[in-house]
Amino acid sequence: MPDSLPNADKAAARSGSKPVRQRRTAFGRFFSRIFPSLRFEGSLEGQFRRWYSENVRSRIRSVIWIPVAALLIAMLAGGPFSDLRAALVAPRDQSLFDLMRFGVLLPSCIALLIATYTHLYTRWFTPVAQVVLPVHALCFVVMDAFMHRQGYSLNAMMPLLTLAPYFVFGMVQAQAVRTVALVVVMYALGGYLGGLDSGQRTFDLVILLFAAALGAAVHYSLQKSVRHSYLSTQIMSESLNRDALTGIHNRRMFDEHAARMWQQAARANAPIALLMIDIDHFKAFNDYGGHQAGDACLVKVAGVLNRASRRPLDLTARYGGEEFAILLYDTRRDRVEELCRELHASLANLAIAHPAFTDNQLVTFSIGAACVEPQPERRVEGLIQLADEALYTAKERGRNRTVVMDREYETLRTGTFRVQRRSRETAAA
Ligand code: GH3
Ligand code: MG
Ligand code: MG
Repeated sequence: MPDSLPNADKAAARSGSKPVRQRRTAFGRFFSRIFPSLRFEGSLEGQFRRWYSENVRSRIRSVIWIPVAALLIAMLAGGPFSDLRAALVAPRDQSLFDLMRFGVLLPSCIALLIATYTHLYTRWFTPVAQVVLPVHALCFVVMDAFMHRQGYSLNAMMPLLTLAPYFVFGMVQAQAVRTVALVVVMYALGGYLGGLDSGQRTFDLVILLFAAALGAAVHYSLQKSVRHSYLSTQIMSESLNRDALTGIHNRRMFDEHAARMWQQAARANAPIALLMIDIDHFKAFNDYGGHQAGDACLVKVAGVLNRASRRPLDLTARYGGEEFAILLYDTRRDRVEELCRELHASLANLAIAHPAFTDNQLVTFSIGAACVEPQPERRVEGLIQLADEALYTAKERGRNRTVVMDREYETLRTGTFRVQRRSRETAAA
């Protein structure tokens, strides 16, 4: 055995088991893969985008209110502004100028603003904004061309339009870069069509490209931190509900899920089943094989049991110590019996040697299963108690077996079941 191994690992190696590594949570592995593409793998990217767009919704709304309010004031209080407008654009260009402001900019901003108050926001806001912003850029260049004739310019607005996709509209990097590229193309096109001086146009384009690159760099680093903190939050909330050793759900999650499932099944008149699983002679396993080997055994058993809860409402959890629980929605006794046979067979296939026995005995578990049809006036604790009674009976009958209880539910009294049975047995003896 190499000397460099820590003592705990040496003990595990002696007992023939691999050292048990801390399980990584479902999100942990994404940390190393965020960069450089700034995109999560698979469904996580979609989850992140939904979370992000909800997160920036109120910010987007307050920012869009600014141009909407300014344009509304300009339109409704036309009088005081008309002199200014006359000074900025030649009278023959004014109707086109107003068409841009009040016919394109204002309605599109109002539409985006309204979307932030409705369910349309989630699906449509970003795709629409990616089209609307380049259209706004085109409007600005055309308006700029009119103003140039009077010696004024709207150029100062262009970097704002270039930065908006990065910092106002809550876009992820790829969307923002695409939109900014379109804004720049629209500027070049609009400037050309509007007859802007070509030297001025080239100069403006260089400034725009500079602003676009600057925005992209800052946006990249902001997105990096947002994605990091998203993952950290997810990992924290995930680890609250996970067992650190085995990676399956923990007791806390079990309690919450059981209470929810009970109510749901009572409403839907659906039967539910609870399997309590306890590893046989596990104290002896630890005593002879060591706790490291015991831990490795728990991880393997958890893996076998976890495969039993593939449907969305089902759940496998570590109930505590070497006890596990499986909740099954809309499941009847015959399916439970079949599943328990499969679980015993899967564990036997793993062939984990029990170090306390000399006759090649393998690790086994006992299962107590309760099948009930939840009634709203009864509580989920009764289901747990019934499964516990069934497990106790399975142990009593010799371990490595399943006992299923269902009819016993009718006469179950909280905390008294085993006491009643013992007194019946004593009376019979
Ligand atoms: P039975 O067949 O009646 O279930 O006997 P048992 O020995 O399995 O039951 P008992 O309750 O006496 O022992 C449970 C053991 O599980 C005791 C404890 O050391 C062990 N255990 C509980 N949690 C862990 C754990 O996280 N890791 C390890 N290695 N052992 C654990
Ligand atoms: Mg136990
Ligand atoms: Mg046990």
